[in-house]
Amino acid sequence: MEIFKTKEDLITHLSTIANDAKSVGFVPTMGALHQGHLSLVATANKNNAISVASIFVNPTQFDNPEDLKKYPNTLEKDITMLENAKCDVLFLPNITELYAENVVSQSFDFDGLEHEMEGKFRAGHFDGVGTIVKMLFEIVRPTNAYFGEKDFQQLQIIKKLTEKEKLGINIIGCPIFREEDGLAMSSRNMRLTEVQRTAAPLIFKTLQEVQALFKTESLEGISNYVTSSINAHPELKLEYFSIAFEDTLKTMTEKDSTQKSRAFIAVFAGSIRLIDNILLS
Ligand code: AMP
Repeated sequence: MEIFKTKEDLITHLSTIANDAKSVGFVPTMGALHQGHLSLVATANKNNAISVASIFVNPTQFDNPEDLKKYPNTLEKDITMLENAKCDVLFLPNITELYAENVVSQSFDFDGLEHEMEGKFRAGHFDGVGTIVKMLFEIVRPTNAYFGEKDFQQLQIIKKLTEKEKLGINIIGCPIFREEDGLAMSSRNMRLTEVQRTAAPLIFKTLQEVQALFKTESLEGISNYVTSSINAHPELKLEYFSIAFEDTLKTMTEKDSTQKSRAFIAVFAGSIRLIDNILLS
């Protein structure tokens, strides 16, 4: 695997090995890699001539400075994992390389997708995501870019960004990779205490119950059930639960099984925020 720290070197390298006939598959990450990230790299490898991953903890997408400060860094291990996964290229820029002196976000209009769910609780988060992904896309110029359904709202926003900015990149959503007990893999999981880690699988268990309840129960009944199920656990606190349509991410107000919908959840385990979602119809 070749590692590049500057955009110039990466662009030069890619221009010598990639051309119209050679597809480039891109997986942007913030590091502290796990099997979920590697599943994206495996898909990129399988379907492209060249796979490129990036590791960059993007400061502008953090609404909580403590979360940014404590974001795990396991760089040496990440590099070994990517090498073992046969990733061809790793882009490893520092902040100045991408933002120069101006560490601020561009403002985006994602047709309202940015105001739902995560957007209500993480001010400026999606402007930060849009800013960094657009920058990385302009540097890597991938044929295909891979994003996890774990961050489903982000996936829909990147699709919108690509469409609105006419970037000509295929955005591919990849399934959520889970621990054996159902907890969605996340870099933040390594910050959980033992007790919190034991409690956390209740999040997915509750979502699976929602999937079953959606067939028979009212939306309000389901919502009340989720609130009581999560908040009954002393280690967990529900931030939001929403049953929403996949394309608009707007909360479903009347039962509708004709359009694709998902249940979305955000839960605090102490100061660590965990999100997950499940397909309903
Ligand atoms: P992050 O490093 O958290 O920014 O994630 C980088 C990419 O990996 C994003 O597209 C995430 O949605 C994806 N990802 C993170 N966790 C998982 C998971 N458990 N399963 C699948 N994809 C994931």
